[in-house]
Amino acid sequence: MLLTITYTGKDTENLGYLLYKNPYRPQVFELNYGKAYVFYPEVSGERTTAALLLDIDPIDLARGKVGSSGGGLFDYVNDRPYVSSSFMSTAISKVYGTAMTGRADAHQELSDSPLDLEATITMLPCRGARDKLETVFEPLGYSVSYESFILDEAFPSWGESSYVNLTISGNIRLRDLLKHLFVLIPVFDRQKHYWIGSDEVEKLLRLGEDWLPDHPEKEYITGRYLNRRRSLVNMAFERLAASDEADSTADDEMDGAADGEQDGAADGEQDGAADGETNDAAGTENLNFEADESGETAEREKKMSLKDQRLGSVIAALKNSNAKSVIDFGCGEGSLLRLLVKERQFTKIAGMDVSAAALERANSKLKLNRVGVNEDGRVELFHSSLTYKDARFSGYDAACVIEVIEHLDAPRLNAFERVLFEFARPPLIVLTTPNKEYNTNYAFLHDDDMRHGDHRFEWTRAEFREWAAKTADRFGYTVQFSEVGETDETHGAPTQQGVFRLENNK
Ligand code: SAH
Repeated sequence: MLLTITYTGKDTENLGYLLYKNPYRPQVFELNYGKAYVFYPEVSGERTTAALLLDIDPIDLARGKVGSSGGGLFDYVNDRPYVSSSFMSTAISKVYGTAMTGRADAHQELSDSPLDLEATITMLPCRGARDKLETVFEPLGYSVSYESFILDEAFPSWGESSYVNLTISGNIRLRDLLKHLFVLIPVFDRQKHYWIGSDEVEKLLRLGEDWLPDHPEKEYITGRYLNRRRSLVNMAFERLAASDEADSTADDEMDGAADGEQDGAADGEQDGAADGETNDAAGTENLNFEADESGETAEREKKMSLKDQRLGSVIAALKNSNAKSVIDFGCGEGSLLRLLVKERQFTKIAGMDVSAAALERANSKLKLNRVGVNEDGRVELFHSSLTYKDARFSGYDAACVIEVIEHLDAPRLNAFERVLFEFARPPLIVLTTPNKEYNTNYAFLHDDDMRHGDHRFEWTRAEFREWAAKTADRFGYTVQFSEVGETDETHGAPTQQGVFRLENNK
């Protein structure tokens, strides 16, 4: 099966830079269920098309190696090698994983801009769901067209086949198109080749973060993506509802819709498909938000000492309080956690991050067991996101959010604020973020460059103070500011810190 992405406009051969795939060199990628080929059927200034061709080995399927339904005729007679399915999503994340993060090095501006893009997905199974092609893709800003086929011309009464060649086109950022395809292809194809577990909930919420909460078909998409497994669908709905609520647009219809969705559901058909492989490419390899502030490596000396100073300042604020339990939101590789562990004052310590890869590294540095807990249960790590309400965030005396807020998309800040200040509501919050004004002191940064490729914004001191004061006021906290690192008279220090205290907290 084939997925083509066409870019029309000016200097469109730059698509090669955005996809990290040279238009003049066809490439082959080994996947554990076959091969993926990337080539460009056309390259010109005005129009460039990249093709991703998937060649699944039907023998592997028949031997039950991947995608097996656990025996029976399905393993021998099936459409898997010929249709766009969850295998295609895995290929997208493996082959275009970097493009999906939006990182594009020298072409960042292009990557951040909406482009005229068209994607054609050949042989998309959409049994009984053809009317959903429009309602799912159009709200995301695409025009939708598809080619359908008569099942057998000799027997017109049999009607049309349930496969279509779907074309969607719109003015959209490439990373968003890839995320939409990744999530929505398996929504139409119900036979997933990987085990659907709670990781898939995290992945769906993360890849859907910018568009799923407001999508009119969010129940349908969530239900189908998770194969309508009741517990997972409920988990996703709860978190989506929380995010909605956090966006101040509580949607009372959620519950009803969720129930309706699952009732007709349990067909068990797909669950057998698992072979233990999880569709983790998008979860752990390419789509994590690395903790390594690599842009700062040129200033390694400064960075090391700045990081140490920052952690020192956070620890001091925590030790000055009577906090016994601390949670580090966006803990990355666990640098702060390692310092907290050394302080006996802290009897309960938790670290959370959206990146499974960062948590794995934190786990091995902290020498925890496989489920992320140490022997006496004092330290715990878990996977979640700060933009969704999560009961596990509550009950701590203090929370740290160290160099994390600038990684959140600005439109999600309101959700973050409510998740942290309203729902988790710890008595003490220590939050740090870069001071943008100081960037002028970094020789490797030019003009409006940010310190790290994944930063969505950086604030001046006035911007940070305004946000912090407004947020503190809104949720009944007070806030005190300080600066961390070498101070420049005009531009201040590299890191700014806010310590928020819950008012009237006994
Ligand atoms: N606090 C750490 C890491 C900072 S880097 C330190 O000071 O060293 C930013 C971290 O925020 C990354 O580990 C990234 O994965 C995490 N992050 C980004 N978005 C997040 C979200 N929505 N929820 C939780 N963590 C997030």
